[in-house]
Amino acid sequence: MISTLTKSIFINGEWREVDTNQTDTIYNPATLEPITEVAHGGAQETKEAIEAAANAFPMWSEMTGRKRSRVLYKASELMRKDAERLGEILTMEQGKPLKEAIGEVKGAAGFLLWYAEEASRGYGEWIPSSIKSKRMLVIPKPVGVVGAITPWNFPSSMITRKLGPALAAGCTVVLKPSPETPLSAIEIMKIFEKAGMPAGVVNLVTGDAEAIGKEMLGNKEVKAITFTGSTAVGKYLMRESADHVKKVALELGGHAPIIAFEDADLEKATTLALGSKFRNNGQTCICANRLYVHESIADEFTTLLKEKVEKLKVGSGLEKDTDLGPLINEQATNKVQSHLDDALSKGANIVCGGQKWDGDLQGHFYPPTIISNVTDDMVVMNQETFGPLFPIQTFTDEDAVIKKANDTDYGLAAYIFTENTSRTLRVAEKLDYGIVGVNDVFPAVPEAPFGGIKQSGNGKEGGHHGMDEFLEKKFVSIGIE
Ligand code: NAP
Repeated sequence: MISTLTKSIFINGEWREVDTNQTDTIYNPATLEPITEVAHGGAQETKEAIEAAANAFPMWSEMTGRKRSRVLYKASELMRKDAERLGEILTMEQGKPLKEAIGEVKGAAGFLLWYAEEASRGYGEWIPSSIKSKRMLVIPKPVGVVGAITPWNFPSSMITRKLGPALAAGCTVVLKPSPETPLSAIEIMKIFEKAGMPAGVVNLVTGDAEAIGKEMLGNKEVKAITFTGSTAVGKYLMRESADHVKKVALELGGHAPIIAFEDADLEKATTLALGSKFRNNGQTCICANRLYVHESIADEFTTLLKEKVEKLKVGSGLEKDTDLGPLINEQATNKVQSHLDDALSKGANIVCGGQKWDGDLQGHFYPPTIISNVTDDMVVMNQETFGPLFPIQTFTDEDAVIKKANDTDYGLAAYIFTENTSRTLRVAEKLDYGIVGVNDVFPAVPEAPFGGIKQSGNGKEGGHHGMDEFLEKKFVSIGIE
């Protein structure tokens, strides 16, 4: 147990508790043991945090990009140097294997580094005028105070993907992390503090999602909401942002298909499929939810994949050789079970896994599971499972499988495994997704735009594109003599 963190709320450069002394207990999902307690903040703390952010906005936004860059750069360095310790904290609260957690922290630091570099490049535009007596320019301006809400599946990188570009653009921020994983958020605030971030520029409120969210949505000072999480909550935030016409950037759920064509390199493709489905135990918005394999390679593909899956070691993320940690909570294991039960009741077969977890630990574990003989009416083929259940369906026709892949309201990521260049381009163009991975299942990098279309969201994180969510474009039209 870490000592109790009642002072987990960070407002205007100060660590605070709540007046009610109310706390939430944070549990280790691998052991179900309590790790620590954090303050249960609500509307009042959020209001104060917004006020602090609004007060800090003129100073931070008027600072040169170069100066903002230095703070972000230092934070990135501090984070990278402390990656092992931060990774352990992340594994303790979230469950993922330590090597994945350390990788996430380094990736999170990578986003701060990228946006430290972008902070100096807030270019505007000079528009050649059609009227001789006019000059026209476009000036990018930071939107103002940003409300950032993040999920538990990537407790570190989901924060820096938002705060990096927001801060680089000149915005100030109030962050609400997931109640399951606030410890990484607290550590990130401490890093900003050490890096010399001026008071009020970043603020953190842990606690009551509904109350914090309502204050963010109802407070006129908050000009933009940036959210990563479920589509249902994203829709609510979008609706409730209408009254003040806030800018809203949403990174929502997905239902990624993998299509393995007959010309795929089977060894490579099965390793990639394994990585896509089982990284973070299937709790990744872009992880494959369904696998379409060409009929002519299906038997060999399934056998190879099964062999690889059966070698995965399930256990506490803190054990060195663990490949698959626990799921985040009981609701998550129940969801996987319900998707499996539904598929089995409709005729699916278990290729491997599917039995109840029989390890020593008490946590929320679920064995990695593959099912075959899968049909389109099964829940797993239509809803996000967010767990280690992999359904395999076969196909014969390219156009038909593209149609199936696109037949969903989600549009975050899709993957194809092929060694054919014409097919790569033809299929990538036709897939209705914000991200298409071709023989690549890890497309989230700081330098490229990441985000969904359709009901998977409407913003981009990463690349220079990530800054757009936090900038207004002011048009200045000048009449001259
Ligand atoms: P979630 O239930 O939507 O929660 C996300 C965050 O929103 C949490 O901090 C949550 O706090 C908060 N929240 C919930 N209701 C709220 C409200 N009324 N007002 C303000 N905040 C509220 O999602 P999750 O289960 O944590 O995360 C998994 C989902 O995130 C999956 O669907 C996954 O696909 C998606 N995701 C998408 C991306 C992407 O880049 N597109 C990346 C990662 C994850 P509470 O838990 O306290 O309710």
